[in-house]
Amino acid sequence: MPAPKQRKIAVMGYRSVGKSSLSIQFVEGQFVDSYDPTIENTFTKTVRINSQDYEIKLMDTAGLDEYSIFPSQYSIDVHGYVLVYSITSQKSFEVAKSIYDRLLDITGKIQVPVVLVGNKTDLHLERQVSSADGKKLAEEWNAIFLETSAKENLSVSDVFHLLLTEIEKANGIVGDK
Ligand code: GDP
Ligand code: MG
Repeated sequence: MPAPKQRKIAVMGYRSVGKSSLSIQFVEGQFVDSYDPTIENTFTKTVRINSQDYEIKLMDTAGLDEYSIFPSQYSIDVHGYVLVYSITSQKSFEVAKSIYDRLLDITGKIQVPVVLVGNKTDLHLERQVSSADGKKLAEEWNAIFLETSAKENLSVSDVFHLLLTEIEKANGIVGDK
């Protein structure tokens, strides 16, 4: 059995899109309805993929918008990003774009491992962002796209498993660590 790999993941996006709900659903397997939006938490969880253990440090960040300062702890030693918007909010989709652009600026990379997540698919009657738009944006970024429901635990673990796979691919290019 190979030694576990440490992976730091940041969950980012506009406020109220479900960053904490996705994190808690993944780590604890439950949906917490009213989680304090100002709490920034780091969770740990070990998952095994293809007989490799990954020790994940999951940073659940406070919501950002186009104007917030981008805190440096969100980019230092971070292996990959979950960029979340809510399918019920066009504004949150625009904010995801803005965060991505700044992420490239700050890391100085042309590509970073990202999964773009359209959350709250259970609220389909309130949908403002089409699946096609999400898919198109992720293609522009060369990133993975998923729609999820943290509430119904739909595709939540896929987000993190696919991101770990993307991080492996990126490491394959620059050398493993
Ligand atoms: P954060 O600010 O991005 O961390 O968002 P939260 O996880 O605190 O969620 C904001 C609000 O959206 C809360 O009332 C959650 O219960 C709700 N929420 C989060 N994910 C979902 C989801 O998948 N479906 C529905 N219906 N509500 C959700
Ligand atoms: Mg939160």
